[in-house]
Amino acid sequence: MTEATTTAMTAARIEGAGEPLWKPFAAALFALAACTRPSYLGATLPHPCTAHDVEGCLGWMVERDLSEAELDLYDDGALRAYVQGVADRLARVSGLAHAPRVVIADRDGTYATSGSRIVIGRSTIERLDSEAELAGVVAHELAHIEGHHAVVSLFGPPPDDDWLLLRRDAEAVADERAVALLERAGYTPGAMARALRAVLDTEDDEHPLRADRIARARVIAGNRPGFEGRAELLAHLEHMVIGRDPRLGHRIGDRWVIAALGLALELGPDDVVREANHLLVLRRARATLAAYAIGAPWARELASSLADRASDVRPLGRVTVGTVARPAARDDTPLGKLARAIRNTLPQPAVGTRVAILERPRGALVIELGGHALPELGLRDATPEELAAAEPTRIVIEHAWRAGTVARALACQGRLLDRPERRVAAGDPIKCADRAAASRELSLDPVPAGPVATAGSARRN
Ligand SMILES: [Zn+2]
Repeated sequence: MTEATTTAMTAARIEGAGEPLWKPFAAALFALAACTRPSYLGATLPHPCTAHDVEGCLGWMVERDLSEAELDLYDDGALRAYVQGVADRLARVSGLAHAPRVVIADRDGTYATSGSRIVIGRSTIERLDSEAELAGVVAHELAHIEGHHAVVSLFGPPPDDDWLLLRRDAEAVADERAVALLERAGYTPGAMARALRAVLDTEDDEHPLRADRIARARVIAGNRPGFEGRAELLAHLEHMVIGRDPRLGHRIGDRWVIAALGLALELGPDDVVREANHLLVLRRARATLAAYAIGAPWARELASSLADRASDVRPLGRVTVGTVARPAARDDTPLGKLARAIRNTLPQPAVGTRVAILERPRGALVIELGGHALPELGLRDATPEELAAAEPTRIVIEHAWRAGTVARALACQGRLLDRPERRVAAGDPIKCADRAAASRELSLDPVPAGPVATAGSARRN
């Protein structure tokens, strides 16, 4: 991501663990607008949307945004079902009539959306040590839904001092309620404080101080016993991707490989390359371009809305070149404004940008073209070796050979993801990576620093 993009993303997130305000806000807006449309991102609107159930409709859309536009859904049915089971167990002892639907996103942060969805970041799960800690994270978000706290962000005043107070209040209430829900559902209530310690790592204005939250959760929970479920969590984490998933774009030597699309782009010795997360910014001769992957339905919508567009089927797939147009008739009805707000949250080039969109079977590559000339890109199918090199690191579970500390348990040599000082019994599961840290760095060459290109800054505008 470029700096502008990062700023936009940061501004959009609330929690240290990242609760984006715009999701409930924007999704709610589009739900209203969408009820007049037959489909959204390539799918017919489901019953809640046609029945004017705004909550149900926007929850569905949030999930569709993640999977079909942002390629940000972590697609592991068994893990999702397991976390859903934890949410169901907590919901049964809550005031909710139905359990929220759990979605696992391939990003940082966990948040509740207005559509009774809890979006849990894969990297949040990676930090947790037991099912009770996972339940703590889920219970906190469930408490936001139970307390209608999203309404605070949706209809509340602009962020002034009162708003921040309200927001901090909602967080403290959710932490306290989560401890109670854990205990009622049979989990160790003290797991809440540990979950907070594992998940929170930054301070912001909208949350009580991290240390205060942890201390308070610990005091409320006391030392009361309950189900911890370390082995249960670990059993479901086997093979989970850890760290950044390089398949959406990663530099491997002198190539930029987008394994998710089966593509590789050759980098030359004179190229100035900048990579930020899954975004490639490349300056070649007098041209600058930014490239990133998006979902196929969103790519088709973008491609069909380009001005001066020319489309051509090439060996790599259909390529549409054109300029991002301002919508012809600016619709300033409330519904029109709502539809614009939702569209703006999806990854897309800014108005006026010249783009090429290459459609592949499982998504599309957007190339924002800047500068004076279109360079020869050197795009091609990725080789089996490149696809293998872009495979992410995954969790494997090994078992302690003997009792003592994890460090002395003779497991996961050089691949330990567990706390070395933690005490285990013989046979206890230990969290490891499937390869050593040294070989986990896929980027073989140092990335030269280059100027931030203007193109690509509007990946999310
Ligand atoms: Zn919260």
